[in-house]
Amino acid sequence: MRTGKILGISGPTVSVDLKGLKLYERVFVGHALLTGEVVRLERDQAVIQVYEETRGLGVGEPVKGVGRPLTVRLGPGLMGSMYDGLQRPLERMRQEMGPFIRMQKEMYGLDYMKRWNFVPHIKPGDVLSYGMIVGEVQEGAFTHYIMCGEEKGKVARVASGDISLDEPFGVFEDGLELPGCHEWPVRMARPFRKKFAPVTPLVTGQRIIDFLFPLARGGAAIIPGGFGTGKTIFEQSVAKFADVDIVVYVGCGERGNEMADLIAEFEELEDPWTKRRLTERTVLVVNTSNMPVAAREASIYTAVTMAEYYRDMGYHVLFLADSLSRWAEALREISTSLEEMPGEEGYPTYLASRLSAFIERAGVVETMSGKTGSLSMILSVSPPGGDFTEPVTQACLRTTGAFFMLDTALAHRRHFPAINWFQSYSLYGKELSGHYCREVAPEWEDLRNRCNHLLQQEESIREVAEIVGIEGLQDADRLVMRIAERIRNEFLGQNAYSDDAFSPPKKTLELIKSIVEFHDRAAEKLKQGISLDEAMKETGASSK
Ligand code: ADP
Ligand code: MG
Repeated sequence: MRTGKILGISGPTVSVDLKGLKLYERVFVGHALLTGEVVRLERDQAVIQVYEETRGLGVGEPVKGVGRPLTVRLGPGLMGSMYDGLQRPLERMRQEMGPFIRMQKEMYGLDYMKRWNFVPHIKPGDVLSYGMIVGEVQEGAFTHYIMCGEEKGKVARVASGDISLDEPFGVFEDGLELPGCHEWPVRMARPFRKKFAPVTPLVTGQRIIDFLFPLARGGAAIIPGGFGTGKTIFEQSVAKFADVDIVVYVGCGERGNEMADLIAEFEELEDPWTKRRLTERTVLVVNTSNMPVAAREASIYTAVTMAEYYRDMGYHVLFLADSLSRWAEALREISTSLEEMPGEEGYPTYLASRLSAFIERAGVVETMSGKTGSLSMILSVSPPGGDFTEPVTQACLRTTGAFFMLDTALAHRRHFPAINWFQSYSLYGKELSGHYCREVAPEWEDLRNRCNHLLQQEESIREVAEIVGIEGLQDADRLVMRIAERIRNEFLGQNAYSDDAFSPPKKTLELIKSIVEFHDRAAEKLKQGISLDEAMKETGASSK
């Protein structure tokens, strides 16, 4: 390992005199061995972004280059774990260090002592290359496929049965060992053979999403909203109920107690689709507001790499981040301390390209081993002052296919989820409607159009009513207003703390169908000359 010295310290970045470093190489900084990453190289110095608290660090302290970039360890044991932004296991750290975690020690993200039952898929003589499936172990509810990392060649021996990650899972003819886990640089998307267009729905259990703004497996959505509009509750609800195999949840720069509550809840709750405990399908990455800001920048990459790893096994993975704005702020802070030229609102000029490169890691792919897996993303954004023209929201909009706009006015009226049904959109809607029509009910698409139409009618009738007063409206219009109100309250609104928190597609359909049919029956009565109140009463009685 090459060593050098610290020349200067500026917030989360330090300059060092170490020669021969590479860009994005991982570095240990100071006596405390803080983790850092090379972000700029100059002729006789390098600048390092340090992922830990730099307080207490001194000029002249030693610096060591590791020779490789920041990586995550990928192997059995990730599921159900909770990590910090550098994939250090928070629970094990707490056990060893108590509540005041001091990041002075490298801790592996995987437990090398834990025993697994390995069932090999390969035999001596097979030739292996990157991404091929070597065998499987059972990880909770999942079959965890062990994949070949960088090592390649002809297999001489294969292990089988009881094994730990400390032992070789196989040996190549040249004597090289085949490990049960491998490392991957977090900033590099994991390879795949082919990418497909996202055409199957990712059911979230949130009616307004599944029905009006559906998300596709392999698609990406953002949910921007001001403080208190329901970003966290939405992300957590989706984490609980989404119809996917695996959820990777990143709590990024938000309140720590929210994450603690989430973990406690997940221990208790079961996955509505498989009836297993939610923790068994979830990986948590936590960088709350009280943790070092620079690690937040790395945390989304650490998390998405783990998500890609499960995608590569052929699973449907959902990546949730709350909130991406806190990541962008970390990026801005680092950029400022590097004295880079600031772009819009002080964010670095490369904000948009970083974001789009990140969001492009979503998708449906054919994996290196020929399976099909998907990685979907729902990212919350917290625009300052609820202003959606700010750079982070705008940059995300360019690469995501769905936009769930949280509306402060709706949140004030306690209409939750406070997603605005006029401003939000999903580019996956057309493709997915066909799927819902086939899988749930043929009238799905028609009902969706009716629902949209009723909401729009309400809006224009409301404008008229402002001039002529409610009494001046015709009965048919007053009926529309009452029905639209029911759509808003009973259908689009969904209380996250009630039994209604999860709405499977069948229930979603039944609910909207009954409201629309109610409208049609009442409208028929109005035509027969019956008054609105009578018509509503009769229709209500007859619909029971
Ligand atoms: P944000 O993360 O955008 O700041 P939160 O997700 O913490 O906002 O939500 C703020 C509050 O709004 C919650 O504490 C809760 O009272 C209410 N809320 C949000 N979504 C829902 C929901 N679906 N059902 C019921 N209450 C909700
Ligand atoms: Mg929040």
